[in-house]
Amino acid sequence: MKRLFLAISPNAAQLDTLTQLQANIGDEGRIVPRDNLHMTLAFLGQCSAAQQEALSETLARLAHQRRLPAFEVTLNTLAHWDKPKILCLKGEARDPQLVSLFNLCQRLAQQLGLHTSEHSFQPHITLMRKAKALPDIKSPTLTLNGHALHLYHSQSSEQGVQYEILASWTLT
Ligand code: ATP
Ligand code: MG
Repeated sequence: MKRLFLAISPNAAQLDTLTQLQANIGDEGRIVPRDNLHMTLAFLGQCSAAQQEALSETLARLAHQRRLPAFEVTLNTLAHWDKPKILCLKGEARDPQLVSLFNLCQRLAQQLGLHTSEHSFQPHITLMRKAKALPDIKSPTLTLNGHALHLYHSQSSEQGVQYEILASWTLT
């Protein structure tokens, strides 16, 4: 079994902006390493090889049929979420193409008997874990262009959690 999730990766310039922001949010928590920064569309939890294969086949077919929508989303608000104790840069899902991609990912997860989201969709990138409070600093504005959907493997190691991209599909 592998712990998997579907997510979007920021580009290099956006990663620079995010790491700069991280440098200004203090040290009362654990900074998410640059390589781990992502925007989750669906956390899938533990997946068998068969579930992973079925998911990949369906996404490959949808990508080939140009039925995975590309989107834009603006993240511009720094937020502290009390329950998961994270600091994130968040935005609103205004683009209908993003909403439809989110719904499609959730529907696939449900059809395969995988974990589905218990919350309404709030696009965000987690910057810090075990965060105590919201720092009083200005948020940057980041516009993500979703051009590819990635399947990530979340692996625990001695250096902490590491994400590996197992597969990617083009959004159109
Ligand atoms: P750790 O749990 O070790 O702090 P992590 O949260 O980065 O690390 P995972 O727990 O594997 O790693 O989660 C992978 C991604 O899925 C992260 O973006 C995480 O916020 C998100 N995620 C995890 N659990 C859920 C959940 N129950 N609902 C929605 N998203 C989740
Ligand atoms: Mg977690």
